[in-house]
Amino acid sequence: MRERDVVVSGASIAGLSAAFWLRRLGWQVTVIERAPAFRDGGQNVDVRGVAREVLDRMGLFDEVKRQNTTETGTVVVDASGKVTAELPSDGPDGATAELEVLRGDFARTIHDHLPPGVAFVYGDTIETATDGPESLHIVTSQGRELRCDLLVIAEGVRSATRDRVFAADEVTQKDLDVTMVFGTIPRTAGDDDRWRWHNTTRGRQIHLRPDNHGTTRAILAYSPGDDLAGLGRGDALARVRDRYADAGWEAPRVLDAFDASDDVYIDQLTQIRMTTWHRGRTVLAGDAGWCVTPMGGGGASLALTSGYVLAAQLAAHPDDTEAALTAYETWMRPLVDDVQGLPRGLKHFAYPQTRTGLALRHLVGKVLTSPPLKPLAAKLTQVAETKQTLPEIPQGAA
Ligand SMILES: Cc1cc2nc3c(=O)[nH]c(=O)nc-3n(C[C@H](O)[C@H](O)[C@H](O)COP(=O)(O)OP(=O)(O)OC[C@H]3O[C@@H](n4cnc5c(N)ncnc54)[C@H](O)[C@@H]3O)c2cc1C
Repeated sequence: MRERDVVVSGASIAGLSAAFWLRRLGWQVTVIERAPAFRDGGQNVDVRGVAREVLDRMGLFDEVKRQNTTETGTVVVDASGKVTAELPSDGPDGATAELEVLRGDFARTIHDHLPPGVAFVYGDTIETATDGPESLHIVTSQGRELRCDLLVIAEGVRSATRDRVFAADEVTQKDLDVTMVFGTIPRTAGDDDRWRWHNTTRGRQIHLRPDNHGTTRAILAYSPGDDLAGLGRGDALARVRDRYADAGWEAPRVLDAFDASDDVYIDQLTQIRMTTWHRGRTVLAGDAGWCVTPMGGGGASLALTSGYVLAAQLAAHPDDTEAALTAYETWMRPLVDDVQGLPRGLKHFAYPQTRTGLALRHLVGKVLTSPPLKPLAAKLTQVAETKQTLPEIPQGAA
């Protein structure tokens, strides 16, 4: 059979997974990444549900497990640091999952285990993608011209190529009104091996999590959120500092450390909802198609799984791209819908505004994490769960 060409735009979890599996199937793979070099940054992500099986089929389960962040559990703490509740973390999919890994370590692991022959272009982006009778014609901002049989857009939530290929009314961007600031800060003697989670009034959360690099991963998350997108890093962090001025607990330490850190990632949580993820020879994978946000959880698991399922369906329908991409959507959609449909009232529960709301949250949290209700609480952290069997990649390729 004629060798087929794929261009993958975006070199993070979804793009690298697609590159991995399509190359294994013999496709010529070119990955275009906007950043000037491979991006190592990012905080905790986890591998759950069916993504564990995908990772295993990649032969990378043990490698990722070796890079575990070392976190042993998740606790809620009060303003003095005293533990008020412990979230279930036993089993593979607890609040602290069995496979907790830093995004950069995870992406790097896939990158370093790609089958030989994947070509990378850094510091470039797709300017136009025109579908023709024989192939799809891509022109990049650096003037490169590429012809391919398939374009996989895996550019994350703010994907520019998606917004060019699909009309505005086909891409619903649902602002969840939550801002999250992730950063790496120096570890201190008081930090332990658990994820410590503190809630305070005016919808503010502070999280501290251990990592496997001798540092601590901090998150400030708050709602109502702030639109910090147009601001420079200094101005954005100043706004966050104002917001956390009287937040107590470890807020001053985190704010000071963020100012000095070169690894701060700010996100205004936005769900992406689309009625279709493909058009002609173009298909979306990962956050670009369905960002679920950390509030839904499982973004990395779905991104990893999408690369595998896409390749498997293309292998199953070698002469019919439309059928393959439809089958890919049909397989992935229930997993995405499951996570995007956030329980009613979740935001008010997670981000209480007043002292009364906070007290209620503590109470509900205590009840939910009590032994009889632990199985229910454990369900809240299960994502990428499915009764469908993973489609097979033909023998010899996998
Ligand atoms: C540097 C970084 C840090 C992150 N940190 C966290 C974190 O701390 N916590 C968390 O929950 N999630 C984080 N995420 C998001 C998380 O990785 C994703 O939610 C999830 O893993 C799904 O991955 P994805 O591959 O679909 O998208 P992403 O991981 O968002 O990757 C998209 C990739 O596409 C590239 N890209 C974007 N636009 C273009 C373009 N026009 N052309 C070519 N390439 C493009 C980006 O540089 C990136 O490499 C981070 C992502 C990145 C890129």
